[in-house]
Amino acid sequence: MGENIHRRSADLFGRASRVLPGGVSRNTLLRATPLLYARQGSGCQVVDVDGVERIDFANNMASLIHGHAHPAIVGAVTAQLKLGTAFTMATEAELLYAENLCGRSPNFDKVRFVNSGTEAVMTALKAARAFTGRAKIAKIEGAYHGTYDYAEASQSPTPDAWGRSDNPNSVPLAKGTPEGVLADVVIIPFNDPDTAVAILDQHRKDIAGVLLDLMPHRVGLIPASDVFVSTLRDWTRDNDALLIVDEVITFREEVGGMQARFTARPDLTAMAKIIGGGFPVGAVAGRDEVMSVFARTEHGIRLPHSGTFSANPVTMTAGRVAMELYDQTAVERLNQLGDLARRRISEAIALSGASASVTGSGSLFRIHMQATPPVDYRSAYQDRDTVKRLNRFIDGVYDGGIMMLNTAAGALSTAMGPPEIDRLAEVVEDSLRESAGHH
Ligand code: PMP
Repeated sequence: MGENIHRRSADLFGRASRVLPGGVSRNTLLRATPLLYARQGSGCQVVDVDGVERIDFANNMASLIHGHAHPAIVGAVTAQLKLGTAFTMATEAELLYAENLCGRSPNFDKVRFVNSGTEAVMTALKAARAFTGRAKIAKIEGAYHGTYDYAEASQSPTPDAWGRSDNPNSVPLAKGTPEGVLADVVIIPFNDPDTAVAILDQHRKDIAGVLLDLMPHRVGLIPASDVFVSTLRDWTRDNDALLIVDEVITFREEVGGMQARFTARPDLTAMAKIIGGGFPVGAVAGRDEVMSVFARTEHGIRLPHSGTFSANPVTMTAGRVAMELYDQTAVERLNQLGDLARRRISEAIALSGASASVTGSGSLFRIHMQATPPVDYRSAYQDRDTVKRLNRFIDGVYDGGIMMLNTAAGALSTAMGPPEIDRLAEVVEDSLRESAGHH
């Protein structure tokens, strides 16, 4: 694609590289240069600073369930802005939203708000430690849970470091990660209950909690099996540990989160993204007995926890309005649109003749540059050539007027309908054909 059409973005990126490391504030945006700069978004459309319009299947990393600038959210937030944005006091906005969220799942007796998914996962892990008096956590190999040190272990291990498949290494994300952190994280493979139990058994007296994303994006965006989740539930119950689910991405799948589809019930849930209605947010919800670690009792507070902007009334208002709009009817409609999207993408793959596949569920999809869909992190792992092909594919998708995540994952918004899915399928087919072409 010609440089000219990205001229203003290229200028801005040049300046940004002088004041922001790597030119960005979040590496998830980086793929090729120039980085594109947004001017404005409305519903499912985003216009960049060079005036190019695209349909947005990225939705700020799957965080905008209603797309951009939904009128009801803009109206409610504007009213709140005029009343003040943050106070050294509680607000009714926080209470109203807590009531809404707790009403969405039988697994949410109480909720505590924070400001990001990273913080939600961190807070849930610390709550599990405070509740059990143990230090170790277990997590799935390759799962992304934000930037808390413990949650980062084996976030993206490479084949030379990941070790045996029946006993994966706890691999640092960056140099200088404390040995103690790595030693306190137990890595288990996805959707392999027997291997997971064999590994967990080696640490049975030390594990505070097992952290699980029910459809981990980086592991391939494949749903967890019911037997896998139930096995982890049984193991944690039998060994006095907690089951913590990370629904930062998957909460959109059902009114009460993706966990509503499973037999097993978690003790704690970390949420973020869509529950902020477009503003920074995170939350930990769970059963009363566990959530009481945050509360003051006659014995003191087991987990002292605060945050300057936690539960600020702007986020609480935006989140509540967004979630009120995302009711059973809206969830079902969006999930059906997601089914259509994955069906149409499969057809596009077949028509293009490219070696590719699609995974996902509900309103989420991910396209893989391999004919057989992955089943876990190791089978989803992409070598250099595959990453190059993927990048060419994403370039073509952007040039075709569609935005997607750099992993070729997409998240639908309620602002979309069948016409946007038609366009998606056309662009995917064209771009697969093109990207498979050159080597
Ligand atoms: N958990 C999951 C499953 C995520 O996808 C993310 C963000 N992509 C996080 C946690 C971290 O959330 P945040 O970026 O809001 O810190």
